Amino acid sequence: MDFDKLLKKKSVLSPWLFRINAGSCNGCDVELATTALIPRYDVERLGCHYTGSPRQADVVLITGPLTRRIRDKVLRVWEEIPQPKITVAVGLCPISGGVFREGYAIDGPLDKYIPVDVNVPGCPPRPQAIMEAVVLARQLWLKKLGVEE
Ligand code: SF4
Repeated sequence: MDFDKLLKKKSVLSPWLFRINAGSCNGCDVELATTALIPRYDVERLGCHYTGSPRQADVVLITGPLTRRIRDKVLRVWEEIPQPKITVAVGLCPISGGVFREGYAIDGPLDKYIPVDVNVPGCPPRPQAIMEAVVLARQLWLKKLGVEE
């Protein structure tokens, strides 16, 4: 295999992760931070990297119950992520509203507006569960790309 093909294959196997806070209490975001900062749960061991740009992202992890105030911004940023993308709902809030369910300021659940590929239940979910979700998201993303490992 020539070098360009090898580079393309290797870079395609390493999805960029992007995080959106859709009005969370920050509990889930703290657990997400452990997957970026603490070697024990480091997503880079899985070949994944966090990015600050939605245009570069492949997998998006969304926390929070989707408040009315932030809904349009979340949808706009989500649209900026190129296809094929994988959406992961992190925590009970984006899945069902969690403790904020039926609150006047809540417009979730997330799948009312965005197709969710992977759910990570928990309030907040443990880092191990987030790591499992990233592994699954990566597999789904490679499947969408038609790439075999
Ligand atoms: S699921 Fe729990 S920890 Fe996560 S944002 Fe909602 S209330 Fe906070």
